[in-house]
Amino acid sequence: MRRGHSVILIDPEEQSRNALIERLRMQGYQAKGFAGPVEGANAALGSPPSAVVADLWMVGISGVQLTRLLRAEPATECVPVILRGPDGPRNRFWSERAGAAAYVVKGRTVELVRALGRSIVPVANQEEEFFTQFQDAESALRDRIAAYLDAALFESVLAAEVRALSTCGTFDRLFDRLTQFVSQVMSYRWLALLVHRPAHLGLHAHPTARGECEQEVRQALNLPADTVILRIEDEEASAARPSAAPLVRPIGFGQEIIARIALSQKGVGDREDTRVLDVIARELGGPLRMTLLVEETQRAATTDPLTGLTNRRALLTALDVEQSRSERHGYPMSLLMLDVDHFKSINDEHGHAMGDQVLVAFAGLLARHARKTDIVGRWGGEEFVMVLSGANEAGARLVGERIRRAVEEMAVLNEKKQRVSATVSIGIACLEIKDTLDGLIERADHAMYEAKASGRNRVAVAPTVLRRTGTETEIPKELLR
Ligand code: GH3
Ligand code: MG
Ligand code: MG
Repeated sequence: MRRGHSVILIDPEEQSRNALIERLRMQGYQAKGFAGPVEGANAALGSPPSAVVADLWMVGISGVQLTRLLRAEPATECVPVILRGPDGPRNRFWSERAGAAAYVVKGRTVELVRALGRSIVPVANQEEEFFTQFQDAESALRDRIAAYLDAALFESVLAAEVRALSTCGTFDRLFDRLTQFVSQVMSYRWLALLVHRPAHLGLHAHPTARGECEQEVRQALNLPADTVILRIEDEEASAARPSAAPLVRPIGFGQEIIARIALSQKGVGDREDTRVLDVIARELGGPLRMTLLVEETQRAATTDPLTGLTNRRALLTALDVEQSRSERHGYPMSLLMLDVDHFKSINDEHGHAMGDQVLVAFAGLLARHARKTDIVGRWGGEEFVMVLSGANEAGARLVGERIRRAVEEMAVLNEKKQRVSATVSIGIACLEIKDTLDGLIERADHAMYEAKASGRNRVAVAPTVLRRTGTETEIPKELLR
């Protein structure tokens, strides 16, 4: 039992109010009764008690509204509120969500006394300056409640907006959509989202302030050296000079901090901006984690784990798209089938791990020889495929020959720092009229075996069946580098 604690009791029914006051006094509380919520709330704000007990349903202001008000006012933010009303899980849920310390079925006095005992925390040296008293109590209280409810509604709309980002599928799309709606609710110099592992940064800034903003973000977030940066630049971000230190908030998922969000405020700092950023930081963990997982799963399903190239399944899908595009726009397309020569002997002589290293180096070499629009993938084992978009036979032959020579010079070293050399045989086939993917791959494969049969370390082109028109002799300029 706690002696001397003051309790404000709001209960419109006189009889039950008086009975409860008596009961609480017997328990050692200084209980003061009020019939209406306005008087009760005003008394609580004027001289904060140890606890407030109120009905859930009252005329004028509900217990939930009263709780929100008391929670939000500095004078009463730590005063526990216990709501009473009819039995029912939803009443309890709403009361607790509004910030009530407990919800007790009306009439259950023992339970109420127990809840009071649990909720009241002794406060040392309660600060006397902290009190609020309204002149026109009723309308002032209503205004306050309306403002808090508006704020709560704004927060929940903002939270819903952030949660909707969980369907983005990629970090880039998530960050792009985040900038779109954050720049609608506040104005900032830059907005940055840093995912910790692997380090990945999204940065939204004004095009003219790009360099400085990146410098400020590096400082604010202490970016790891290998951070991949996605830059979004448009005039939704402000070019104004920074006036205060950037706001930085951690983003958690479960117990783990998975990211940080940072923002450079435009002009003088705004308290509302801080609140918006807090809501975003609180809600973004789930959607961000979900997006990163989807992205990772997608990547794992389409990537060859050893070389990091597109795997066979994804290669076939990409090839299909590329073939349709090529047919629709009438531009040429060539396929290279590349097979490392005598790879079995590399494994036998230097070990399987060294063989793997050769494959990784070979894959890197192919990627370096590809243009952005080309597709490079591992077909399986020591066989690789390159699809050159827009390249006719001459162009493909040029690329093939360039790769063949580069592989001859490829420097992979074993533990003794000796060079492990490799060569490659390449078969080329070009897309023809009414061609099929299977036909194209098969012709490239045959040409590759031709290259093997004629001595390996060479490029062979599949004979024409019915070549697309006008593309044989011109070599696209971008291939001649
Ligand atoms: P050819 O010049 O006729 O192509 O001869 P080859 O030895 O390259 O061809 P073969 O098909 O006889 O052997 C391919 C070898 O590649 C056999 C297989 O063990 C090896 N291999 C396949 N996948 C991997 C891999 O991921 N890592 C390593 N180290 N070896 C692999
Ligand atoms: Mg092979
Ligand atoms: Mg081989």
